[in-house]
Amino acid sequence: MGKSGLVFGLFTIVALVTLAAQNPPSAGKINPITLKYLGAAGWEITDGTTFVLIDPYLSRINGPPPPGGHPMAADTRRAYRWGDVASPDLAAIDAHVQHADFVLVTHTHYDHILDVPHIALKTRAVVIGTESTENVMRAYGVPEEQLITVRGGEDYEFGPFSLKVIPSIHSALDHKRYFSSATAPGGMKAPLTLEQIHPEGGTLAYLIRFHGHQILAFGGMNYIEREIVGLEPDVALIGAGSSRKEIYDYSGRLMRALHYPAIVLPTHWDNFLLPYSASQQVNLDALQSFVEEIAAASPKTKVIVPKYFEAISLETAGK
Ligand SMILES: [Zn+2]
Ligand SMILES: [Zn+2]
Repeated sequence: MGKSGLVFGLFTIVALVTLAAQNPPSAGKINPITLKYLGAAGWEITDGTTFVLIDPYLSRINGPPPPGGHPMAADTRRAYRWGDVASPDLAAIDAHVQHADFVLVTHTHYDHILDVPHIALKTRAVVIGTESTENVMRAYGVPEEQLITVRGGEDYEFGPFSLKVIPSIHSALDHKRYFSSATAPGGMKAPLTLEQIHPEGGTLAYLIRFHGHQILAFGGMNYIEREIVGLEPDVALIGAGSSRKEIYDYSGRLMRALHYPAIVLPTHWDNFLLPYSASQQVNLDALQSFVEEIAAASPKTKVIVPKYFEAISLETAGK
């Protein structure tokens, strides 16, 4: 090492020691992780500094029901059809999404992706998803440097957290008839119709390792068992809608494969065609059977039924 190298090296050490003194890495004060349910399959996961969103869908339009579902007869709001363009509900997004560093999208369906282009443009968050999802982002002019296309199998380091992308499959809608698994093509121009943002484009799940926690997030009611065997998340966001009943031993196989996670948070169990203010009592009642399935398969697991926008702290939730 030459003289200048030595001086530089010493300077670097002094600078690092000074930095360490300002930000002691393990002074016992790691910010607790909180999760917030946004409805449908949407979540915010944060340590107070880094904000990760999953399938954030705040607009909750009176949209076309999923195959096998029924339109909402009593809803007086505008009813959207597949050929319509629906604009995001900017007031709802502004009320609940102030920060986002990363948005993870499980698949290209409107109840997962309708709001994501606006959220990405507003927060400059990086959007991680399939090629299909990224093509929808491109149509709305989300810059390439904010787009990370994944295929499933990646395991990426992002500094504050790491992310394992899990190949998965969509809920078995309409009595096991997949709606579509087409990919939204490149070269589309906004605004896109609901049909254009609803091809599915393949489905992913995500394992987020964040301050010692491992949070596994699904965006619907299915999984590929061999892709999740051996994962040991302490927190699992598990699709709990009624289409899970199309799947053989859904909760039992999941709990065994994941080695009985400490906390299960049911997701995608509410009726996303209704506004936040509407009663979800029918769906809450239906959710009881899911809670019982998990209790039977994994008696020590704590199931927490989330309330919209209520912070769930992992430091207290496990107690
Ligand atoms: Zn879907
Ligand atoms: Zn969905």
